[in-house]
Amino acid sequence: MRPKPTTIGRFLVTGPYSSWAWRKICEVKKRLKLGYIADKWRGTDEDYTISDGYKWLLSETTQKVSWARIVWNRYNLPKWSFIMWLIKHQMLLTLDRLKKMGLDVPTDCYLCGVEAETHMHLFRTCTFSKRCFQLLYSWLQIPVDILLDTDCILKIRRLSILVRQVILAAIVGVHYGVWQSRNIGRVEGYVTNPTHLVRLVQVDCRRRVASEFKGSMTNFDKTWCRDHGLI
Ligand SMILES: [Zn+2]
Repeated sequence: MRPKPTTIGRFLVTGPYSSWAWRKICEVKKRLKLGYIADKWRGTDEDYTISDGYKWLLSETTQKVSWARIVWNRYNLPKWSFIMWLIKHQMLLTLDRLKKMGLDVPTDCYLCGVEAETHMHLFRTCTFSKRCFQLLYSWLQIPVDILLDTDCILKIRRLSILVRQVILAAIVGVHYGVWQSRNIGRVEGYVTNPTHLVRLVQVDCRRRVASEFKGSMTNFDKTWCRDHGLI
């Protein structure tokens, strides 16, 4: 199917320019134009600058999302954060989405081969990801239902900030690992071992604690990290 043309200013464009990202850019441009006429703020004598325009736009449209601290946690690897951000926006190219785009692809999950591949299935109900979260529970001693409710982890006051951040990083790392395993399944045709996946996450968390933690650890943090193989 030919992509729908999109109007940008006086130009009519098709193809990649009519993508979701490009449409978002156009929306921002359109909203920015509401704020000024020529080089003055609309309805005032004040000079308009591009930098002030973006500040105005951000203050008007920025919404705080509860998962921001999970996605942009300092102990995440950057590639983990990126994939988690896509997951939170439901924007990974899962089979259900590819199908909706008109591509002729199979529907069954590459990891379990039982259910249709969707975001919800891959990261919640798939037997592969369930096994990964059980292993995460064995390592961190946090029940699976709490591991899956990241907002809840942020509120566990008996744990220190460092411990909560490391737990969240491990959760994000597992999400990344599940998506990576899914891609290996799709391209290579085999399913990786969940134990290996969680072990890699543990190694990466240990490296992140060593490189990102500044200052001296409290006795609680030291004991917790030692007990969980992080130092
Ligand atoms: Zn599955």
